[in-house]
Amino acid sequence: MLDSEPYPKTFEEFLDWFSTEEQCVAYLESIKWPDGFVCPQCGSRDAWKTDRGLWLCRSCRHQASVTVGTVFEGTRKSLRVWFHVMWLMMAHKTGLSAKGLCDVYGFGSYQTAWGWLHKLRSVMIREGRERLQGRIEIDEAYVGGRVEGPRGRVAEGKILVIVGVERVDSESLGRVRFRCIPGITRKCAEAFVVDYVEPVPACGGWFVKPKAFQSFGGSKRPPANSNNEAASPRKVFWVGP
Ligand SMILES: [Zn+2]
Repeated sequence: MLDSEPYPKTFEEFLDWFSTEEQCVAYLESIKWPDGFVCPQCGSRDAWKTDRGLWLCRSCRHQASVTVGTVFEGTRKSLRVWFHVMWLMMAHKTGLSAKGLCDVYGFGSYQTAWGWLHKLRSVMIREGRERLQGRIEIDEAYVGGRVEGPRGRVAEGKILVIVGVERVDSESLGRVRFRCIPGITRKCAEAFVVDYVEPVPACGGWFVKPKAFQSFGGSKRPPANSNNEAASPRKVFWVGP
């Protein structure tokens, strides 16, 4: 939900952008209605905002809320909390557990926290987004789960996701993509790359650095004549560990 759109690059920036509920609402509105409010009922742009933060259409009297139809619809938690949870989901490579959410954010029940993690995860891995570009790193991560599993690859009850992230420079990361995968296999990883990452014309394929996929093993450099796009079929090149 928050990825091809402008997104804070550092935690400090995140705190600046989303320190009040109003800022969070404004951010969602800028994504939902990039050219200003449009009535979902009649398409009119003639509307005003009520004290309760709802948009009231002057043409058809429809009341619209920015959170309707989003994962935030009907939540009693503040958007600030949800944005923070999403930030953590992005940053926490080893997985953010529902138990942790309960403890830190004061959720009433484990089930509530788990349900929200599910919802957020489903929108964060939605297909059909703008693809990642440039240097990409691929990693695995475990999310949620009722069972306290070991940190290895057999963490029971946790959801295995593959994470692709743009490496901007040695210190900063760009956009992120997630997908749930059945196992850590080269096949899963390559399918993910093909679906989520923009191919590099110069090498006629994808140029990816797996961070934790030991199973991908050795280097597989792009062909020497990598300037010639037609030379080889598109291929995923895994470079280094
Ligand atoms: Zn209307």
